[in-house]
Amino acid sequence: MSDNSLRLVWVYPDLLSTYGDQGNALVVERRANQRGVPVERHDVRSDQPVPTSGDIYLIGGGEDRPQRLAAERLRRDGNLSRAVANGAIVFSVCAGYQILGHEFINDLGQREPGLGLLDVTSTRGEGERCVGDVLADIDEPLGLPQLTGFENHQGVTHLGPTARPFARVRLGKGNGTGDGTEGAYNDTVFGTYMHGPVLARNPQIADMLLRLALDVNALPQVDDRWYEALRNERIAAATQPA
Ligand code: GLN
Repeated sequence: MSDNSLRLVWVYPDLLSTYGDQGNALVVERRANQRGVPVERHDVRSDQPVPTSGDIYLIGGGEDRPQRLAAERLRRDGNLSRAVANGAIVFSVCAGYQILGHEFINDLGQREPGLGLLDVTSTRGEGERCVGDVLADIDEPLGLPQLTGFENHQGVTHLGPTARPFARVRLGKGNGTGDGTEGAYNDTVFGTYMHGPVLARNPQIADMLLRLALDVNALPQVDDRWYEALRNERIAAATQPA
């Protein structure tokens, strides 16, 4: 593999990969290749060490028990935190998002420590599960178009003082706190409740991850017609009266 390859790490596909989240890795890989950037992809199972040399790490969602196992193994492994300390970019979804925070409530009803890479804390929502299509406005400094995705979670996530909300919902629950926030980010670590897969529905987010990893301000245009068709279809479905 050439030295200028982008190193993409898909963390624990055996535990964390619900609702097609693996599509996120395919989208990042494809959009890098379309720009002539070779990708060295590592799918790291939960019985393997996480490499510290990755440029972009992707983590998906999961049910409550696999989520606890993933948190235990990531804490023991420690390498994701080392990679972030070295400037790596992390994009996490749902259970993966909760694991990156300070703590969440596990399948045994206990407080489970996370990695503390995001200044967020998750609890269990007392009300109905948050399920359905979401539309949200992404935090303005990120300069990205409207966020579309699908959520399915019981967890409710509170942002600490240093985390910025990734987006503000127009439709759907997002973090579930009632303050309208959806997801969070601290520097190069991002978390969202959006499945979909979210990067297929929002390829501009994949491009932002690539821009950060490649340290460039812009990327060559690619043909986004199919992504646009998917976005329009999902946005229309979400906004149509029942
Ligand atoms: N188990 C977590 C929750 O319900 C995350 C679910 C998910 O990743 N879809 O909050």
